[in-house]
Amino acid sequence: SDDVRVVRAAAPVSIGLFNCLPLVYHNNEQIASYLKNFTEVHKDISTLYSIGKSNEGVDLLVLRLTKNVGTLKPHVKLIGNIHGNEAIGREILLQFIEYLGENYKTNSTIGWLLDNTVIHVMPTMNPDGYRPFSVGICEGENGRLNGRNVDLNRDFSWTGNETKQPETEAVRAWLQNNTFVLSASLHSGALVVNYPYDTSTEKNKPSLTPDDDVFRHLSLSYARKHSTMVKGCQYKDNTEKVFKDGITNGAEWYSFTGGMQDYNYVDHGCMELTLELSCCKTPMTKDLEDLWMKNKEPLIDFCLQVHNGIKGRIIVDGNSKTKAKLKIEGRNIGFRTSEFGEFWRILLPGQYILQIEVNKKLYKVPFLVNNKSSVLKESGKLEVFLSKDEVTLVKGDAVFTTTTIPTTEVQRKSSTTPKPFASNQHSIRTIRIEIFNGATTKFVSSSMIVVLLILLILQLH
Ligand SMILES: [Zn+2]
Repeated sequence: SDDVRVVRAAAPVSIGLFNCLPLVYHNNEQIASYLKNFTEVHKDISTLYSIGKSNEGVDLLVLRLTKNVGTLKPHVKLIGNIHGNEAIGREILLQFIEYLGENYKTNSTIGWLLDNTVIHVMPTMNPDGYRPFSVGICEGENGRLNGRNVDLNRDFSWTGNETKQPETEAVRAWLQNNTFVLSASLHSGALVVNYPYDTSTEKNKPSLTPDDDVFRHLSLSYARKHSTMVKGCQYKDNTEKVFKDGITNGAEWYSFTGGMQDYNYVDHGCMELTLELSCCKTPMTKDLEDLWMKNKEPLIDFCLQVHNGIKGRIIVDGNSKTKAKLKIEGRNIGFRTSEFGEFWRILLPGQYILQIEVNKKLYKVPFLVNNKSSVLKESGKLEVFLSKDEVTLVKGDAVFTTTTIPTTEVQRKSSTTPKPFASNQHSIRTIRIEIFNGATTKFVSSSMIVVLLILLILQLH
């Protein structure tokens, strides 16, 4: 009842081992103390860090949840409250944190998720915009902007070197220093999953990415797991804003530049969705429980989706620090390896070619993403692409092949200034490409899994 809620709301935010986090709005100080307390209670799976400060000096706190960071574990991030008056993202993410913490040891899905994934949660990206008195205000812009009256979701433009807001700069550096694979930004004011691009050359016309199939899959998965998203919002004037299947391309809804999801994808190869989670921007406290329950399963499933597709490691002459530029052939968008040579890419089942550019040379590795769940037992059904200068290796049951394609620039250089191999410091002797199956468990609902378990050693002459 509401009486109970009032009592719980007044209680200190200090959370004991067996308490639940109250479903109420928490101010910035309460969020900070909750997160700090959480790391003390759940030392084994959490770390708290700040990526910088807001205009008004509030730490932009991120809670990292994982059992061990480890090799090849993909990083997911969840960001709330980029618009200060869309406060439900804060509370949903706090509940999400609490749920993961309380269920890590007892729920096998959550256990697997945190054992195999690194999840970074930032409940508020715009603490200065949050107004405690805006609870119950469903529309309007009051509190949307940051402390300097800038809309942070318009501050990520790709061009120019103009000064960004401190919150934006902090997020940009955060992306630079991590290799995030998947991300969501939580908003409210509509009920729909919005996927890139938001930017369009033609006003309010669809603007699709080379990974549109993946973005649609991720969006549909979220909307379908949510009990009411496909129904959209019913407004007071009886107009309905219903998006087909509860999803929309950003630009098709309304186009704008400088949005965070386009920046994530274009500049950092991170697939980000914009989740619009409530028709009312900051619903009444009594509605929070319903909102959390509707988004709990979709959020867990969203984090698991990062395991669909391909992951691997590229080690050049024994060095994993050599950064490689990567592309999936036919998809004109790049991504990169982490500082440990790791890479991840979410893909639907199908046959693909991974393009790896190292030291101005291009390598191609065909691979297959399968939707079979017993992939590890069935590895080896890889298509072989034969050409005259390829190298084929066999490991276990699988057959692997690759083709080296030196760029014209490299060819020209080597013909005009021939050098013995040993004296050319840029020559690569070996490049080891390891590709692993994206997921190994039944918990990935769509069970799209890479068929390969590759250990490929390319000997160049
Ligand atoms: Zn918003």
